[in-house]
Amino acid sequence: THFGFETVKASEKADKVHKVFENVAESYDLMNDAMSAGIHRVWKDVFLERFYPTQGTKLLDVAGGTGDIAFRYINYIKKLVKANPDNNVQSSVTIYDINQHMLNVGMKRAERLGFQSNEALDVDWVCGDAEKLPFDDNQFTAYTIAFGIRNVTNIDNVLREAYRVLQPGGRFMCLEFSHIEDSNLLQWQAFHHKNIYDQYSFQVIPPMGQILASQWEPYQYLVESIRRFPKQQDFKKMIRAAGFRAVDYENLTFGVCAIHSGYKV
Ligand code: SAM
Repeated sequence: THFGFETVKASEKADKVHKVFENVAESYDLMNDAMSAGIHRVWKDVFLERFYPTQGTKLLDVAGGTGDIAFRYINYIKKLVKANPDNNVQSSVTIYDINQHMLNVGMKRAERLGFQSNEALDVDWVCGDAEKLPFDDNQFTAYTIAFGIRNVTNIDNVLREAYRVLQPGGRFMCLEFSHIEDSNLLQWQAFHHKNIYDQYSFQVIPPMGQILASQWEPYQYLVESIRRFPKQQDFKKMIRAAGFRAVDYENLTFGVCAIHSGYKV
């Protein structure tokens, strides 16, 4: 355990995660929309606003899946390039994921959207584990991981690797499901002896998985993995322990999600 966070048996977890994303690659985007009622799009937009990339940003998007964060980043850079065509500095994004099926779906989407490499922007797709990055030290100016760190076997290894590949001054940003911290909502729930968030996640998500993707168990697992993930403050301490500074977080939707960020010094 680390900061009170219980780790599941490593092999069991890796296996389950693999099964979930192997099976859902094709329907992944639809499921995201269905389960969050489209709100994941808003969370991701806010994440990009906080990230605030500039021309010349070299981004590593870990657990990049089908490209949701990368495509927002590409759109953002495209706008900057349009507004500033004389700035010849090249930006880049590397979409990195352990599951080639997810990357394949993402590459097809990129083709459809016209999001390939050009002289202003380099786009790469690389398959591998977040705990062992196949990149040299000090390569990137930004590292993002959205809805990915919850699924890894060892969070500390992922943070250590993030720190290693970032340049000094580089920024780590994580978007992840988290824990309700809004005091009004918690009070209201306590008063009514209800936990609407628990009810939604345990009673709605797995049945929805069954109906839309013919799978119950992987979605039950997803809900449990959110519950097991460290609380905001504990995760913040883990990021600091990896060496990052100016570490902070912001809750989205009462803490259903949180954005954690920090800088390599
Ligand atoms: N970032 C994308 C988004 O926000 O839509 C995808 C998030 S998806 C919920 C989680 C992704 O993490 C999956 O594509 C999965 O294959 C990937 N993943 C799980 N464990 C990983 C690991 N150890 N290293 C790299 N990617 C991993």
